[in-house]
Amino acid sequence: MLRLENVSHSFKNGSEVLKVLHNIEFEVKEGEMIALLGSSGSGKSTLLNLMAGLMKPTEGHIYIAGQDIVKYSENKLAVFRRKHIGFIFQAYELIPTLTVRENVELPLVFQSVPRSKRRKKAMELLEITGIGDKAEMYPSQLSGGQQQRVSIARSLITEPSVIFADEPTGNLDTKTEEEILRIMMTLNQSMNTTFVIVTHEMEVAAQMKKTIMLRDGYLVTPGEGSGPEAPRQPEVIALAACEEP
Ligand code: ADP
Ligand code: MG
Repeated sequence: MLRLENVSHSFKNGSEVLKVLHNIEFEVKEGEMIALLGSSGSGKSTLLNLMAGLMKPTEGHIYIAGQDIVKYSENKLAVFRRKHIGFIFQAYELIPTLTVRENVELPLVFQSVPRSKRRKKAMELLEITGIGDKAEMYPSQLSGGQQQRVSIARSLITEPSVIFADEPTGNLDTKTEEEILRIMMTLNQSMNTTFVIVTHEMEVAAQMKKTIMLRDGYLVTPGEGSGPEAPRQPEVIALAACEEP
């Protein structure tokens, strides 16, 4: 489903070059749900943006559904992204002037799906994420947890191959965080949607079967004797949790 080969990334700031990801390699199988861990500044968002085709890596290959998205032109990538990739943001990123239902429908507007079909599908997803009764309200009338449910519904409407979520529960209280996680886990099981979830929270990571971790732009491989500076995984998780403001 998703495979990274030797992915590195540098940011250029004038004459300065900052290498923030170093030779990242891993794969995620169809229907898997994995957590991407690491403390603030370790490169999680950069890696997620690369995998979602929002930026191109300076080196390496990223295969999604068998296609190397690094080789795609901007246009081809935009089409591929709309079809295969869903994204959930920490700050929800809903459009304030559209209703909840219209926000969820929007990706299908770009695909010229007829209105009645869009509406039906949006309503189904809003029911699944538990906010069908809020469909005609505006985002500002909803709590953070409710807005994230809208954003999850929106990410699913194109039936993407994989959904990337960047700290989706970062703005939510613990109880709401658990609800949102449970929704994503249920969707993962019922619809076999592949999820990659960035988080620095231990409780979130503890619920995932599979985790990968970044430290200073390097992948930390637990249990592979990655040297004296690579602590065991639980310690790294604890450290990551403490460092975050
Ligand atoms: P995380 O999501 O784990 O907190 P990021 O991927 O946001 O980490 O950032 C990794 C590193 O890359 C940090 O040192 C950050 O300052 C740097 N960085 C991120 N985006 C940019 C950018 N657009 N230009 C320059 N440096 C960036
Ligand atoms: Mg980040």
